[in-house]
Amino acid sequence: MSDWPEIDAYRRQLSPLLCGLAIREVEVGREQAINEPIDEFASHLNGRKVLFVERRGRQLLLHLDDGNRVLFALPPGGWLHLGPSAPEGERAQIALSFEDGETLFAGGPRAVACHRLSAKSVNEMWRGLGPDPFDARLTEEAFVKRLSARRGKLKATLVDQKLVSGIGGAYADEICFEAEVLPAAPIPELADETKRRIYRSMRKVLEEAAADPAGFPFRVHGREGEACPRCGGTIRQEALSSKKMTFCPSCQKEA
Ligand SMILES: [Zn+2]
Repeated sequence: MSDWPEIDAYRRQLSPLLCGLAIREVEVGREQAINEPIDEFASHLNGRKVLFVERRGRQLLLHLDDGNRVLFALPPGGWLHLGPSAPEGERAQIALSFEDGETLFAGGPRAVACHRLSAKSVNEMWRGLGPDPFDARLTEEAFVKRLSARRGKLKATLVDQKLVSGIGGAYADEICFEAEVLPAAPIPELADETKRRIYRSMRKVLEEAAADPAGFPFRVHGREGEACPRCGGTIRQEALSSKKMTFCPSCQKEA
């Protein structure tokens, strides 16, 4: 999973370690990961210092001292790792080595995106993204208003990055479970109090997951057929449009 909690954990981990360091070597193990020819990519990055590490939605951004950015977007199951070598048994698609001898490796089961972009193109790319789940301006009232403007099913809307940026399918299932609402609940049917509960559940689930992404106890996602930890009912998985949803039909309600 490479959602808000994982990417934010990377941001918190990498910020103090990378800021102020210059890139000394670039190795590309998978050409599809980058957005320009390898030689160009490497020569542009060589010697550049990282000024700042930012996360937006599910993407991580290194701000460089030449005004450009390096954007990382990880596929499901993708990873970043800072150390002397890639994690055991993993193959890095990209490796940025820093002047202190550490290397930032990125990999995953599918192509990682590691793109060198201008600040302007990043801004253009991010223009359509909704606010961060923890944006101070995304108050409970603001969230209820945004959600009320939508007509779709709850889970499909939660993962729409235009509503809020950073939530993927697995955490959307968990947020619906925490709020005791069915993922397929039509938004126009939801009471305002339910929408407020969804907001609080979103913050609670993401906060808990961000504290320890690897140890987050998924309660419904990936647990089809198991007993619901809240009511003992049987957790079900069903299709929702082209995606899947996992939920407890006994304690999650329509509205
Ligand atoms: Zn239940």
